[in-house]
This record gives sequence, C-alpha cells and structure tokens, in this order.
Amino acid sequence: MTTSTCGHEYTISLLELKEERALYQQFCDILQSLLPEQPLSFFIRPSLSNKEALKLIYQQHVSEPLALHEMLEKAQLCMSKPVLISKSYTCMPLRLDDQVIGLLWIYAVLTPANCNLTAHLMNVFFHQLHTLALARIDPLSQLLNRQTFDEKVLEIASGQGFLQPRDEPDPRRWYLALFDIDHFKRVNDSFGHVIGDEVILLTAQHLKENFRAEDYVFRYGGEEFAILFQAHNDSEAQSLLDRVRGVIRSVTFPQVGQVTLSVGFTDVTDVMQVSELVNQADMALYHAKQHGRDRVVFYGTLEGVSLQVTTSDIELF
Ligand code: GH3
Ligand code: MG
Ligand code: MG
Repeated sequence: MTTSTCGHEYTISLLELKEERALYQQFCDILQSLLPEQPLSFFIRPSLSNKEALKLIYQQHVSEPLALHEMLEKAQLCMSKPVLISKSYTCMPLRLDDQVIGLLWIYAVLTPANCNLTAHLMNVFFHQLHTLALARIDPLSQLLNRQTFDEKVLEIASGQGFLQPRDEPDPRRWYLALFDIDHFKRVNDSFGHVIGDEVILLTAQHLKENFRAEDYVFRYGGEEFAILFQAHNDSEAQSLLDRVRGVIRSVTFPQVGQVTLSVGFTDVTDVMQVSELVNQADMALYHAKQHGRDRVVFYGTLEGVSLQVTTSDIELF
C-alpha cells in the first residue's frame, strides 16, 4: 500500500471494504505500516455488542502486556477525549453508548502527526464497522437478518466459527435450531398486526437474552427465528432449547397472553450445504408441528423414521 501524509489511501482502503474480517485485517495492516516500531495492542468487541468482552485482535512488539482491566480504567478516564496521552502510553478508545467497544493501546508517545492520523483512521474503521453491522440487522427485531445467515453458516461449517473457543477441555459443537411461533396467524387475526409485531419483537428479545453472546440469533422469516449455538452434545442442546422454549412459554405477552414455540434442530457438520442444513432443521420443526407443537425435536431422532420409510418404499418395488 502506498503511504500518504494525509492518510487518504488508508481511508479509502477501509471504506471500500464490505466484509468485517477484511476490515479488521486491513486496519491491522495499517497499524503495522503506520506504526511499525511501536509496541501496541488493539482490542474490539467483534459484534459491537455490550454483552461481549473486548477481544485482542492485533498485537505487535509487546513483551509485557498490561492487564486489560488497567487499560480500560485509563480509557474510562478520557471519556470526553478521543485520545489519552501519558508519559509512557497513548490510549485510543472507541465508544458506543458510553461503552468502550474498542481500544488501541500504544506503549509509547506518538508524534502529534502520527497520533492524529491514527485516531482519524480508527474513527474511519469504526464507522465502517458500524455501517456493516447495521446492514446485518433486521429493523423490527434487531436480530441478525436472513441475508447474514448463509454467511455465518458457511463460516461455522468451514471451521472459522471455532476461532475463539472457550477454554474448555471438552469442546463444544455447533447446532442450528429453527424456532417458529405456534398459531401466529391467530394472534394477527385476533389482535391485529401491530400487536403481532410486538410479539415478534418481544420473542426476539427473549431469545437473544437466553443465548450466549457468541451464539447467533437471526430473524429467519416472519415469525421464524434461526439460532446457531454451541453445546457439548445432542442432549445438552436439547435441554438448552427446551429451557428457552419454557422461558417464552412463561411470558405473559401484552393483550395476547401466552405464546408457544415449536423448535427443530440439527447439528452442523463441515461437509454440509446451507440448504441441506436448513432442510434438516425444518424437517424436525415440521415434526414438532405435526406432533402437537410447543416442543423441541432433534433431526437426529428422525433419521430412524425416514430410514424405515425408505426401506418399506424399496420393498414395494
Ligand atoms: P403454525 O403453528 O403452523 O406455525 O401456524 P402459524 O399460524 O404460525 O403459521 P403460518 O406460518 O402459516 O403463519 C405465519 C403468519 O405470520 C402469517 C403472516 O401473516 C404472519 N407474519 C409474517 N411476518 C409478520 C410480521 O412481520 N408481522 C406480523 N404481525 N405478522 C407476520
Ligand atoms: Mg412460520
Ligand atoms: Mg408459525
């Protein structure tokens, strides 16, 4: 990349990126090229969510890193300033709604020109990240939208979703669950679409609250939600989903009262097409609907059933 004193090329190189990982990478490359000799650490909350902790995205030349909480304490001190400069460090926090959602910590004092340019590029990076994040959100439910779903499944199926696993000896696996509100047409017919929308919004909020920050909750369709989440095994996944189903069941929705959900889920394997995966979860959901609704069905438990059907079909020939 060519360097210019006004940082124009750097700015453009950030603004033209339409994918978050590429944006992170580009910003890290910029830090490396702009501040090649400086020890520094860069942290961010990847989905800009308040539920997430700051994660280390990039670090160079740091032999004795400061504890993150100490950096955060300093970052809180400069609430009204974009940069905090002391004798031995430069701290540049990114804020969203009074929360520190990103932090560049440089273990040195920069020249004023470098400091201004870095702070400017940090802002450009953040605004671009925020714009990309907004494009992923469904406006009614504030969940991830359908367009983002395929992308995330492919990321997970290709192993990239496991990049930041929790520190556990027994690794967890990814699952896909489809949640569908039972008899939702009746809600619309009896109380109108505005109340219907409110049920969708409240259900979305409960779903989001009941999964972990590293899980992905999507509004998949009208009153359907898709969740990509991790569990150690099938029965743990089943109990987790059953618990969430129970939580929603116990909510009293304004005017409407009780709402139930049917759930179908399957495990995500690396060889799977997105359509095949969704089809499996959908078959399990269909089974839940056919067998009384308000229940969770695992695709794995259906395989025996479909196998029997296939065998008897063959025998007919
Ligand atoms: P089932 O238990 O079989 O799922 O029954 P259902 O009535 O929920 O099933 P169906 O999928 O046939 O109906 C879903 C309804 O959701 C139909 C549609 O009018 C309504 N709907 C879809 N999107 C929205 C939305 O954004 N707002 C509101 N208020 N209604 C919506
Ligand atoms: Mg539906
Ligand atoms: Mg429905």
